[in-house]
Amino acid sequence: MKCKICNKNNTRIFTSKILNKYEIDYFYCENCSFLQTENPYWIKESYRECINNTDTGILVRNIILSNIVSVLIYFFFNKNKKFLDYGGGYGIFTRLMRDIGINYYWQDKYSENLLAKGFEHNENERYELITSFEVFEHFVNPIEDIKCILQYSDSILFTTNILPLSIPKPSDWWYYGLDHGQHISFFSVKTLQFIADKYHLNLYTDKVSVHLLTKKKIDINVFNILVKLSKKGLLNFLKKAYKSKTWDDNELLKKVN
Ligand SMILES: [Zn+2]
Repeated sequence: MKCKICNKNNTRIFTSKILNKYEIDYFYCENCSFLQTENPYWIKESYRECINNTDTGILVRNIILSNIVSVLIYFFFNKNKKFLDYGGGYGIFTRLMRDIGINYYWQDKYSENLLAKGFEHNENERYELITSFEVFEHFVNPIEDIKCILQYSDSILFTTNILPLSIPKPSDWWYYGLDHGQHISFFSVKTLQFIADKYHLNLYTDKVSVHLLTKKKIDINVFNILVKLSKKGLLNFLKKAYKSKTWDDNELLKKVN
């Protein structure tokens, strides 16, 4: 098989059972350290419920992420510009960010927008930053999606769990998502660096799960400290810089509807 990131030949490293029924192959690329499944013919079946049923962490994760992103926007981006959540699911994150006071919009080809109605992505828009959480590991053709995102912004902040250097066995890493079968692309730090170089972007990563690709130059130590402090409540000290859009949005939507 060809690697979907760098197009070099990759090699089959193991097989595993997904959705309790299909025995599938996993292919690893020595060149860019990207791990991919074989062509995901089961994918429609795995998306019957577009957000998988076992995702109990959905709200906690969105709240933590809204803290991290608001802090990073405060320090590194123009907070008065527009922002987009790509693959934004039900719109939880977009709503949380608007509640904090950031002009956020929603996009998702596969999910219904339940909580951020009226703030959908417009094809002609450019954004200061695009966020994309727990989406990259779902990409069937990651490069196509990344190219698409980069049409709208020079900066992507995203989460996906980093593939460990020593590739875990299928039974040893929950992130393979064997029960739901939706995770088909696994990125190492080397893969992310390959993507950054391909598009002339800088990569900043905590080497665990939070990654930023951007044209901006940022001090990686500051990035890491801010990610850590934002999980410990740093946003509470910055909140005065933001004005919540909860009521303004309510007024706006009443006028539109
Ligand atoms: Zn590769």
